[in-house]
Amino acid sequence: MKIKLGLLYGGKSAEHEVSLLTARAVSQAINFDKYEVYPIYITKTGEWRKGSALAGPAESTKTLQFGLETSKPNSIASFLPVENDDASKLDVIFPLLHGPNGEDGTVQGLLEVLNLPYVGNGVLASAAGMDKVVMKQLFAQAGLTQVPYVHFIRKNWKSNQEALLQQMEESLQWPLFVKPANLGSSVGITKAANREELIKAVELAFKYDRKIIVEQGIVARELEMSVLGNDNPKCSVVGEVLPTKDFYDYEAKYEDGTTNYAIPAVVSAELLKKMEDAAVRAFKVLDCSGLVRADFFVTDEEEVIINEVNTMPGFTPISMYPKLWIESGLSYSDLIEELITLALERYEEKQ
Ligand code: ADP
Ligand code: MG
Ligand code: MG
Repeated sequence: MKIKLGLLYGGKSAEHEVSLLTARAVSQAINFDKYEVYPIYITKTGEWRKGSALAGPAESTKTLQFGLETSKPNSIASFLPVENDDASKLDVIFPLLHGPNGEDGTVQGLLEVLNLPYVGNGVLASAAGMDKVVMKQLFAQAGLTQVPYVHFIRKNWKSNQEALLQQMEESLQWPLFVKPANLGSSVGITKAANREELIKAVELAFKYDRKIIVEQGIVARELEMSVLGNDNPKCSVVGEVLPTKDFYDYEAKYEDGTTNYAIPAVVSAELLKKMEDAAVRAFKVLDCSGLVRADFFVTDEEEVIINEVNTMPGFTPISMYPKLWIESGLSYSDLIEELITLALERYEEKQ
């Protein structure tokens, strides 16, 4: 019997198109002798569409999109593994969604309620990983080194702006990085060099979230590592992001092609060990499962400072997460296979 695999992609977020590209790449890498692949598409307006099994690898993102876009929306209940509807009895779901409503635990919660095994992080790790403040508090618990930061909510900013500005000026050194607490892809993030810029940056970040975080800026290498596993996670080789502009902002990530990458990065054996230790500690303190990309700042003195983890990192074949595994000797197809195996193992363990 083939394993029925649901590919869940699209979604309301800004990363809809990226998700389609990922879904196409995954469908092309899957072994159709072993898996029957069912597309589950979330339209840009948030409607769920379920297609019949793909006959073979999707040739284009249109195959994955238009056929379903015009079909009838499905109720969430139609995804329940019910006895009398064979096509619904999916064995495992691969959510290929990023950002809010995909990477933040909400979709994961839905799949838990539907009692469906799924690839990647569970509700807790996804939610904690999406909130930079909660993530940092847990990292501190795990003894991980981080940049100094301050966080506050919109209400406090409105009533206590001067006190908060003073607190930031006293406890942090310029420049500062201002970020919405719950986002990714560098959206809403600004580097501020003085009070005037800081106020503007805070106002911008509050457009995206009611909670923000302000960090001390650091001059350091940006090194990333892919982690894979459940209870005994493994680490990949290290990759380096080399932005040629001020920082790794949204345009540098997706649009202007100004960023260079070194895969693998040049790191000493000692640094590699420190990073592996920190990546695994970060993975464990958030109770991660499946995959995480751990992102670090590393100073000239080789101090390893954790910036964040991403619980559903970019997953096209040219994204950092798969590329680091390919460089470590695990092909894109084998990586997908491993993630599905880990999802089924985790589900079994919970029963
Ligand atoms: P996101 O989750 O949106 O990727 P990050 O916290 O990773 O947010 O920040 C995006 C980018 O901004 C980083 O990759 C880095 O280039 C820059 N950056 C963020 N925080 C700092 C900091 N404290 N010091 C220096 N650069 C930073
Ligand atoms: Mg992130
Ligand atoms: Mg980041």
